[in-house]
Amino acid sequence: MISFIFSVCCLLFLSCLLFIYFSKDRVDNIETRIYSYLLVINFFGLIIDVIGYGFLNVFDATSLINVIISHIYLIYYFTWGYILTIYIFIISMSINNSKKEKYRKLVSIFYFFVILLLICLPININYTNNYAYSEGLGVSLVYLLSGLLVIANIICMIKYYKKIIIKKYTPLFALLILTTISLIIQTYHPEITLLLTCHTFVTFLMFFTIENPDVKMIEQLNIAREQAERANKAKTDFLSNMSHEIRTPLNAIDGFSQLILEEDSIDEIKDEVRDIMAASQNLLEIVNGILDISKIEANKLEIVNVEYEPAKVFDELVKLTKGRLGDKPLEFRVNIAKDLPEYLNGDYVRLKQIVLNLLTNAVKYTKEGFIEFNVDTVRKDKVCRLIISVKDSGIGIKKENIDKLFTKFERFDVDKNMTIEGTGLGLAITKKLLDLMHGTIVVDSTYGKGSKFTVAIDQKIVTNPKTKKEEVKVKPKKVSIKGKKVLIVDDNAINLKVAARLLSTYNLQTEEVASGFECLDKIKNGEVYDLILMDDMMPKLSGVETFKKLKEMENFNTPVIALTANAIAGMKENYLKEGFNDYISKPIDKKELERVLNTYLK
Ligand code: ADP
Repeated sequence: MISFIFSVCCLLFLSCLLFIYFSKDRVDNIETRIYSYLLVINFFGLIIDVIGYGFLNVFDATSLINVIISHIYLIYYFTWGYILTIYIFIISMSINNSKKEKYRKLVSIFYFFVILLLICLPININYTNNYAYSEGLGVSLVYLLSGLLVIANIICMIKYYKKIIIKKYTPLFALLILTTISLIIQTYHPEITLLLTCHTFVTFLMFFTIENPDVKMIEQLNIAREQAERANKAKTDFLSNMSHEIRTPLNAIDGFSQLILEEDSIDEIKDEVRDIMAASQNLLEIVNGILDISKIEANKLEIVNVEYEPAKVFDELVKLTKGRLGDKPLEFRVNIAKDLPEYLNGDYVRLKQIVLNLLTNAVKYTKEGFIEFNVDTVRKDKVCRLIISVKDSGIGIKKENIDKLFTKFERFDVDKNMTIEGTGLGLAITKKLLDLMHGTIVVDSTYGKGSKFTVAIDQKIVTNPKTKKEEVKVKPKKVSIKGKKVLIVDDNAINLKVAARLLSTYNLQTEEVASGFECLDKIKNGEVYDLILMDDMMPKLSGVETFKKLKEMENFNTPVIALTANAIAGMKENYLKEGFNDYISKPIDKKELERVLNTYLK
């Protein structure tokens, strides 16, 4: 009778709790969802308990209906314990989505298997001295499984103790102890239906400690606020970082330009122009770094695998690094494996970017001593693993900073290394590129002594290279583009001047207009061009709008190239989608310009 009164009280309390819980706004995450299942299942368990008590008084204890109720009861016990276990595992471990799918299947299969057993295994109902309890194989199985689940939970919680503390889920330890004690008592005194009351108590405690919807909502809001504050700080840091980084080469460009105006000696002027070009290159590297990061974050960075000659790539890297050594007292040691395959298949542009970044860092962060560049190979079937290492005797990296190396904008000892230029983007990009190319990078560094970065990357060996055959067959045809007519459309006078000046070196006839309207007028007036280079970001009528109007004109079939500084992730694809024949980004790369001229002015 006492057990019955307990169950009715629990049912009343739980009904109130259910009402409050489900009438509140809740955070939608997996543990909240599992907790709501626990509540609902607990509620049904109590209903079955109360109904079962009534049936025992009406029907014979061994009647079919009471046996069925006992089976349902056992299913309830196992289900509740099983769901609590899933809850504890989920809050303790971080499981990624692909694994989640796999586990979900396993968990469901195991659950249905046990349920099937609980339906089939025999149960006897004992009804003596007004106490009713069931025994038999089914009951023993539930006790056994519950014991195992408790052990699994204890192990899991001890193993992931720190995570549980961080997530403030400590009340779970108290709940687990309570469940264990109730399970032990119930095993030896099955006539006391303690477990069900314990379940209700546990769900209650969870509501008031870790699963309260209001508290959870506030926690989520706090997390969101912290994230927003962090993002805001990162943005501010980024802007101040960038403004510093961009100002440095700009200062050089501006300073040397002023000097040139006052300079008479042509040799001095040439020297200063070279410095301006170096500063521009530096500026371009900064902008490209930002573009790469934005592409990576938009998931738009693609790996383009082509055939290439690795020896040529490493040769070029050595030359570029030698150029960057300047007059630093550094010994540059190079050991490139003799057994490098002649041709490999991979994204050599990105591979070059990765290795150049490591070599450039070694040059930047080493005052004296040596830099060692090693390339080794390990061949397996048709794959060649390139093991590339860059070792230096430079400033080294503190142990605590090694983990942060690949985080964007992270730079170390900035105060000490004020004169060393950098954005803190290089290694973040390197790591992302390597992830995309299924490669790895390992860092070994001693602060004050030097560092070693080792990259391993698999590339397919090409045994029958197409490039080689084409090289033999295709003799470069010299196409004359002299005298062809090109129209440049740009609202910026300097940009117009630069483009016209660059084109003039090819003996082309160029015309310049400062707006889309002027371009349309020219075409309407019957002017014919062989090529149009069109800026996009122009006031009133953009390049894209101008292009659309041109396309609507009868007999217009001049190739139009988007020539724009709008070079953020995916922009090239967007311009091609709009119908532009090709795309050149500013600042204009002479090689790119030549490629376009040769393609469209033949
Ligand atoms: P950047 O060199 O533009 O600052 P990176 O992402 O390439 O950016 O490197 C991040 C930071 O890691 C650098 O600012 C520097 O503090 C440290 N670092 C990278 N390479 C080395 C190296 N070879 N020796 C010492 N420190 C290095």
